[in-house]
Amino acid sequence: MNILVTGGAGYIASHTCVALQEAGHNVIIADNLCNSKVESIDGIKKITNKEITFYEIDVTDEEAVDIIFSNHDIDGVIHFAGLKAIDESVRNPLEYYYNNIVSTMVLTKACQKYGVNRFIFSSSATVYGDNKVPFEETMILLPTTNPYGETKAMSERILTDIANANPAFSVSILRYFNPVGAHESGLIGETPSGIPNNLMPYVTQVAKGRLEKLCMYGNDYPTVDGTGIRDYIHVVDLAEGHVAALENLTEGVHVYNLGTGKGTSVLELVKAFEEANGIKIPYEVVERRPGDIALCYADASKAKQELGWTAKRDLIAMCRDAWRFEKNHKE
Ligand code: NAD
Ligand code: UDP
Repeated sequence: MNILVTGGAGYIASHTCVALQEAGHNVIIADNLCNSKVESIDGIKKITNKEITFYEIDVTDEEAVDIIFSNHDIDGVIHFAGLKAIDESVRNPLEYYYNNIVSTMVLTKACQKYGVNRFIFSSSATVYGDNKVPFEETMILLPTTNPYGETKAMSERILTDIANANPAFSVSILRYFNPVGAHESGLIGETPSGIPNNLMPYVTQVAKGRLEKLCMYGNDYPTVDGTGIRDYIHVVDLAEGHVAALENLTEGVHVYNLGTGKGTSVLELVKAFEEANGIKIPYEVVERRPGDIALCYADASKAKQELGWTAKRDLIAMCRDAWRFEKNHKE
């Protein structure tokens, strides 16, 4: 299939482009590089040794998107492009609502015009809010505490309404848990700008000596050791989940959790990183981070049953691959 991958130069999408090409699909990338660099596309090419068509465009731009659909016989769209920094979304809600929602509308409109009926959307476990774990796809979504989370819930709703009104339109909504790690080649990975917000990139930068120590946000949660529990998933497993979703897509709207189903505490992740890489990570326990929840992990059984997909790579592989990329990566 010819697959338009929006945000294709980004962290999760670049790994998905590799998985798509390895599964025999052609990839067309649309990315405005607002949070990525063209080098990641070079990385994809090096890994797969295949050509990629790249459009440096903003996917909220209807005319630019229309050109791509008219130039290529597109079979499906995987819509990753989006802004994702939670704190920035609180400071700048309009930018987040505009970028993340208008992009979904522009792309679905082009799909309708050109008769493209396969659409896969990057959603997030954040839409569950502080529900009871493990999170199941059928749960009532709880309001999130930030505009970013709302853009995901709203995009899910928009896609559901469009699919309900157009029975041929097939939508897969993928709710990611906590993607970490990198491709084992070390050629592509996560490159946050500035000081990382997320745990794993923070840990790898402490390991590199760029940051002095990890600030552990609270150790008084009702969890095994008091630190927050998350469902970390290797980004290559996540990428493979997209290929499974694409190849098993049927009419209607389908929602899948892409996680491992296993919760890991902050302390456990730090220990696993130290064990995997033989590097000590100094840390200090500080106040809880506002908006954080204690527990977040998936019930991952639906994706296994319906897509035949499960995450295979363990926490040690996640830590090893994250560090390999960070170590080799030059800013
Ligand atoms: P990323 O920032 O690395 O990738 C997003 C890409 O989209 C970037 O390359 C950016 O340049 C591009 N982009 C953003 N707005 C665009 C626009 N209007 N037009 C064209 N390109 C645009 O982020 P990621 O972590 O790879 O996330 C990919 C998707 O998955 C996002 O939608 C994100 O919200 C979602 N998601 C991420 C996580 C996570 O923890 N990383 C968790 C759940 C969901
Ligand atoms: N965390 C931490 N220090 C950091 C970043 C994160 O202790 O510098 C904790 C955070 O409180 C949460 C877990 O690590 O319990 C995962 O946080 P991340 O931001 O990576 O993911 P999210 O909270 O969005 O699921």
